[in-house]
Amino acid sequence: MQFARIIGQRKLINSLVDMAMSGRVSHAQLFSGSYGSGSFALALAYAQFIACENKQFYDGTDKSGLKADSCGKCPSCIKYSRLIHPDLHLVFPNTTTKKIDSKNESLLFREQFTQYVLERNAYIDLPSWYEALGVDNKQGLINVRDAAYIVKALSMKTYESKYKIMIIWACDKLYHEAAPNLLKILEEPYENTLFLLVSDNIGNILGTIRSRTQLVKVLPIAEEDLAGHLQEEFAMEKDEALMISRQAGGDYIKALEYKDRSKAEFVACFMQWTRLAFQYRRKAGEISAFVERICKWGREEQKSFLSYSLELFRQCMHTTLGLETGMYFLDEEGEEFRRNFSRFVNETNIGEIYRLFERSQYNIQRNASSKMVLFDLTLQMGRLLSGK
Ligand SMILES: [Zn+2]
Repeated sequence: MQFARIIGQRKLINSLVDMAMSGRVSHAQLFSGSYGSGSFALALAYAQFIACENKQFYDGTDKSGLKADSCGKCPSCIKYSRLIHPDLHLVFPNTTTKKIDSKNESLLFREQFTQYVLERNAYIDLPSWYEALGVDNKQGLINVRDAAYIVKALSMKTYESKYKIMIIWACDKLYHEAAPNLLKILEEPYENTLFLLVSDNIGNILGTIRSRTQLVKVLPIAEEDLAGHLQEEFAMEKDEALMISRQAGGDYIKALEYKDRSKAEFVACFMQWTRLAFQYRRKAGEISAFVERICKWGREEQKSFLSYSLELFRQCMHTTLGLETGMYFLDEEGEEFRRNFSRFVNETNIGEIYRLFERSQYNIQRNASSKMVLFDLTLQMGRLLSGK
């Protein structure tokens, strides 16, 4: 993974380059940020850069926006790009599977993990990893065998490069009994070892581990960077790419999920939903059936649907204000709907609608019952739309 393949994040990458070149590389760094922001990809590209035998430096005018990058061609880079460098160690949450039904540990899944990472260009997250493992809802852990492996792998001398690099992905999934081993080695690190911890949930990492690492805060990808990438990768129109990027909050993985759900379906659902909402006093049964249908989607999709709905509300507000609108309603039926529906969206209710939607999204994210959240949202929306 070269820095050039990371989506956006140029400022952070350049500061990592500065740090690496100054010789002030901290022996343990914690990349903290959502997985869709590229926290794992960044750690991997950083490791490859440090190990590269022929680092490339740019004078700041390079169009990639990078100060420097790994060369991508030296023997070290070639091995890093295939995740087979002998000085690169990977530890990640794992669990028993059909094939490995006892004594599971990262080492036994290394090949599977490598393939999974390469397929996704290092933009990985836990649900898709568990799916790749074929374990559905079973949650993985970094267990005591993984901790023993960390100590053992790092106690051996390096094979080919100056540093042994240990990337621990989703380190918040560390099982408490595995913590002492890891703590000890973080406290008294072996020579020339580099720990790159990655987590999207820093609050769940033991304070004693956190305090022994240097924090590398990974912010969401800038809206225009992500949009630019989507445009290029999927030959998307600029407006659509920007909308997806905004709704995904700079999270590439969410943007992919969002893109996959057909917009037409969202629009159709939105029209049905708002029509039902107007009749909130009489059609509780139908509202409930509608909500059930949405609840069959995953939580991410539910959240995406709410984001998209808000975008549609925004479009209607624009119509009400006589402003230009984009083509979000897609076809003639949708356009007719927008013309009729817009007169119910106005300055007195739009603010409250925004707040309601944002609170609902937040509650869904916090694992509240989607059914209750969406049912309640429908009633409130109906009340606001009817001016009550
Ligand atoms: Zn290289």
